Amino acid sequence: MSDRFAVRRERVLKALKETEADAVLVTSETNVRYLTGFTGDSTYLLLAPKATRLISDSRYEAQLAEECPGVPAHIRTQRTKMVDSVAEVFKQEKPGRVGFEGEQVSFAFWEQLRDAAKTTELTSLGGLVETLRAVKDAGEIAEIRAAIRLAERAFRVAVAGLTPEMTEIEVSYELERNIRRFGGQGLSFEAIVAAGDRAALPHYRPSRNPIGDAGLLLIDWGARGPGGYISDLTRTFATAKPSTKLEKVHGIVDQARTAAITAVRPGMKATDVDAAARRMIEKAGYGKNFGHGLGHGIGLQVHESIRLSSISTDVLKAGMVFTIEPGIYLEGWGGVRIEDNVLVTKDGCEVLSTLPRALERVGLV
Ligand code: ZN
Ligand code: ZN
Repeated sequence: MSDRFAVRRERVLKALKETEADAVLVTSETNVRYLTGFTGDSTYLLLAPKATRLISDSRYEAQLAEECPGVPAHIRTQRTKMVDSVAEVFKQEKPGRVGFEGEQVSFAFWEQLRDAAKTTELTSLGGLVETLRAVKDAGEIAEIRAAIRLAERAFRVAVAGLTPEMTEIEVSYELERNIRRFGGQGLSFEAIVAAGDRAALPHYRPSRNPIGDAGLLLIDWGARGPGGYISDLTRTFATAKPSTKLEKVHGIVDQARTAAITAVRPGMKATDVDAAARRMIEKAGYGKNFGHGLGHGIGLQVHESIRLSSISTDVLKAGMVFTIEPGIYLEGWGGVRIEDNVLVTKDGCEVLSTLPRALERVGLV
């Protein structure tokens, strides 16, 4: 079987055997894309050992035929509701007990589906497809590498043109413009561009304030590559002669990042990777200033399985790609975060991002 989507569907069917369900109704747009290659929306996938059916409407008939050859589509008319189409397909295919994506659907949808499906038994499944998506195949890794290259190139070009008058929003726009110019779909999320004390807010939104000569600039950005996969990076640098405090805090964050990366290997608990970085920051006396988890899986989405935090239950496997992003945030002063993207290999990890991390002083033109 050479079709990578068919290979993924086979893996889902295999994983289904460990559950209460005989089939799965995939309703998450991202999961449908992962399993079929379909890039549109409003389309579900019924996956059963003897039946694979996309359920969609006439707007997507041609696109489905083009993007998902070999997966038959049930096209509903504009007079039929989606849940009724799903019930129709259940009636035709008799899939047995159907698992639905309990973490994805609304309570209202579940009620409608239950009422429409009548005789089909339904059961809620946890993140079955999400768990499989955490381990990337070779094609996905290549797409993520491309998204990292795009983000890095866009960053280098944007940073070379920074002026003190530019607002944070302008810097974010420059990053986005560069990513699109270089062939990407755009930013993978609204970039965080935070100057001076505003960098103390980990999830800050760029403002109309000029980056000025605050001395410190934190940029957290990523690219969505042409294939839909993303990158997610952060660099913090000086826009004036760095203070001793900035040098010190930046050094601690960088040590924490390297301690985590050195620890990563398959079979390791995600909590232990988080602890490797957190220990460094605690030892330096900044434990309470690192208030978020160490990292998260990336792929078709910016935050996907797995989680690296002190409360995660995930275990690392070869092929997983995630961020390592320790930070120290000091109210009224600013913040430093360094974020890289890593791939778990057979015996450690490969750092996929390549931008230098040393505290650089970027001259504003
Ligand atoms: Zn980020
Ligand atoms: Zn991140």
